[in-house]
Amino acid sequence: MHTKIDLLVIGAGSAGRYAARAAASLGKSVVLVDKGPFGGLCILKGCMPSKALLRPAHVFHLMKHRLGELGLSIEGTPRIDIPAIVRMKNAMIREMAEDARKSVEQTRGISLLSGRFSFTGPQSGVLDDTPLHFDKAVIATGSRIHLPSIPGLDPEWILTSDDVLELEDIPSSTLVLGGGPVGLELGQYLSCLGSDVTLADTNPNWHPQTDPLLAREYLGALESRGLAMRLGIRAERFDREEGGKPCFHFQVDGKKHAIPFDKVLLATGRRPDTAGLNLPAAQVHTTRHGHIQVDAFLRTSNHSIFAAGDVTGILPVLNLATFHGEMAGRNAILPIPVTVREPVVPIAIFTDPEYARAGLTESQAQARRIPVRTGRIPFSDVGKAIVYRETDGALKIVIHAKSREILGVEMFGHGASDLVHTLATAMHFHATIDQYQEILHIHPTFSEIFKYLADDMTDAI
Ligand SMILES: Cc1cc2nc3c(=O)[nH]c(=O)nc-3n(C[C@H](O)[C@H](O)[C@H](O)COP(=O)(O)OP(=O)(O)OC[C@H]3O[C@@H](n4cnc5c(N)ncnc54)[C@H](O)[C@@H]3O)c2cc1C
Repeated sequence: MHTKIDLLVIGAGSAGRYAARAAASLGKSVVLVDKGPFGGLCILKGCMPSKALLRPAHVFHLMKHRLGELGLSIEGTPRIDIPAIVRMKNAMIREMAEDARKSVEQTRGISLLSGRFSFTGPQSGVLDDTPLHFDKAVIATGSRIHLPSIPGLDPEWILTSDDVLELEDIPSSTLVLGGGPVGLELGQYLSCLGSDVTLADTNPNWHPQTDPLLAREYLGALESRGLAMRLGIRAERFDREEGGKPCFHFQVDGKKHAIPFDKVLLATGRRPDTAGLNLPAAQVHTTRHGHIQVDAFLRTSNHSIFAAGDVTGILPVLNLATFHGEMAGRNAILPIPVTVREPVVPIAIFTDPEYARAGLTESQAQARRIPVRTGRIPFSDVGKAIVYRETDGALKIVIHAKSREILGVEMFGHGASDLVHTLATAMHFHATIDQYQEILHIHPTFSEIFKYLADDMTDAI
């Protein structure tokens, strides 16, 4: 079989597929291996299925609770067919995975093989039992679910994100541990479908780097739509109430609390999937959390082997996985690798309302000793938000105090995941707030929020 492998890519998720394509486009022979099922986290159990479920859940919530705001009513009670939603989601996912597979198979220079890969040396390994030798390799094996160990936690009570995506019977009450994107999105999904959801997180300020006021307002908007929050908790134990429900015991500021629940969604983060790779044989080092250590070229401690995506632990989001995948694929092939520049990485949480940010928050800028000015505007100042009855939201911009370059944006509100690109684009081109202020915006749009704030910050009328 393949006698000469210029580049072996381990893992055909998003990072791996981009790495393989980049190297193939440079004329190299690439072998892309995956243990299956083919598709990667984003398509199979991540971005795509979660959003496919959130969309009907949000519409259902709007029909049940917000039609009156729009002067609408329907006869009877709106109903939701959860098995139908899950079926539709599965059909979409199957098609997306199939399209991704075809696209790889049709790319000249890439051979797709299935099997679990394990290193046997610095430039060799086995795919199941078949030996492979490679010149260069990219590790893109992603992440796996990690369950925290808390005393008394019965496996029967546990839901993982994978489980929630397949649930047809919604628990009457759910405890969500972890206030990251997965906990918030899937917590709100269950809440929209009628579960009584409480989300608990150890951090008292939700996320240490976010703006405290904006975070409070965002979480408040989620609470007003039915998601209860307990922040700053210290987990103690689980037990079962006498003859009754499971119960979670925790402390906040030294005071003891208990929440009874039917199911607990563990959304406390994932771990790098390096099990079985036999990294020591390849002399590839990991961090103390088990992520693969990479340098500014995305090179591991073995300079013939690169890594990209969730397995590096840099930031577990799709856009960075594909960006780094492409860079790792190229760098593995180029005679002299190029330094991977730090891109503007917009990120979002697809709750209703949405949260999004790009660039630096004020506290991140302060930590880097960058002198900044900030500006803030609520969605309720924007005509389109008023007429659409979507005034829950706010925007904060961070600019350099002297150069006036836009350094960061943080926001929540209707359509934030799309809106954020306006300023991400400006930041990519190092625009100042004064240059941004000159851009005409369509009226009425949600995007005008940036223009209004730029007007304020440049003292324009
Ligand atoms: C519920 C959920 C929702 C999410 N939503 C979003 C979102 O909205 N936006 C966003 O940006 N990100 C989101 N993410 C994160 C995003 O999905 C990941 O950051 C991204 O998919 C990671 O891609 P990857 O290529 O690094 O890894 P993966 O896509 O996980 O690919 C790794 C591949 O490696 C293969 N593999 C592993 N070990 C081996 C081995 N030894 N041999 C051969 N093959 C192997 C696996 O089978 C897999 O196909 C979400 C994640 C979750 C869990």
